[in-house]
Amino acid sequence: MLLSEPPPTPLDFEFDIFRIPVRVSGLFWILPIYFGLQDQHLIYAIVWALVMFIAILVHELGHAMVMRRYGISPRIELIMMGGFATENHRDVWRSSGGLGSLSGLPKILVSAAGPAAGFCLAAIVIGLVVLMGGWIEFQFAYGFFPYWSVELEKGVRFGREFPAMADMPTNTDMIYQLISASLFVNIYWGIMNLMPVDPLDGGSIAREIMMKSDPVSGLKNSLWLGVFVGGGIAVLGVFVLKAFFLAIMFAYFAFQSWQKIQRMDGKGFGGGRW
Ligand SMILES: [Zn+2]
Repeated sequence: MLLSEPPPTPLDFEFDIFRIPVRVSGLFWILPIYFGLQDQHLIYAIVWALVMFIAILVHELGHAMVMRRYGISPRIELIMMGGFATENHRDVWRSSGGLGSLSGLPKILVSAAGPAAGFCLAAIVIGLVVLMGGWIEFQFAYGFFPYWSVELEKGVRFGREFPAMADMPTNTDMIYQLISASLFVNIYWGIMNLMPVDPLDGGSIAREIMMKSDPVSGLKNSLWLGVFVGGGIAVLGVFVLKAFFLAIMFAYFAFQSWQKIQRMDGKGFGGGRW
């Protein structure tokens, strides 16, 4: 996801992972604490902080790893509403070309790698739950929209007896929260990110595909797609899903795309962040 680089705060910290520099803004923690406090317990703020930190880091690592595959030295920033992976201009060893030289399939793969990494993480969480004796039941609303229930109780499933996770000397409620939050973040945010709306990953993918098939008006058409899909999700968010945060976000993206169309002077713009 793309937002402007935040000002430094006293709570910022930096570290390296797989030789990729990561900077975490102090503002990053505002949203997890907000989500956690909605559950009425301070401890869930810590659960949400942990889950969001890992999920967003893994998402950006997905982008960063594929960037590196194409010879670009990446860096990651975790900021208030998420994070982004971009080119590390401070790396003197970076190869020539850079992000600006990416287009077509490589650019699509860089974009898709973020949500893909999140889906892999969700699969690992599901695998761990099953290994530990729990179960996750998946269903699809309208035949395609996934939702699930996490079962940590003892029971027989598919002819095999599962022990109860509740028997373990831990707080089941806490484990339940941890699992639910990780699946929610890694699956739903991944799907949301794949919507063809700029500046989401799906928006970058749509732009690349549409510019390839129509170099003249592909960019403009991809922005119009963002206006309609973003606006549609905003309406759905208000009237059907009752998810106002989601609605406001997509309404804002749709408006931004519309503004970009108004400003277009035929030159286009380059997306250097995921
Ligand atoms: Zn992304």
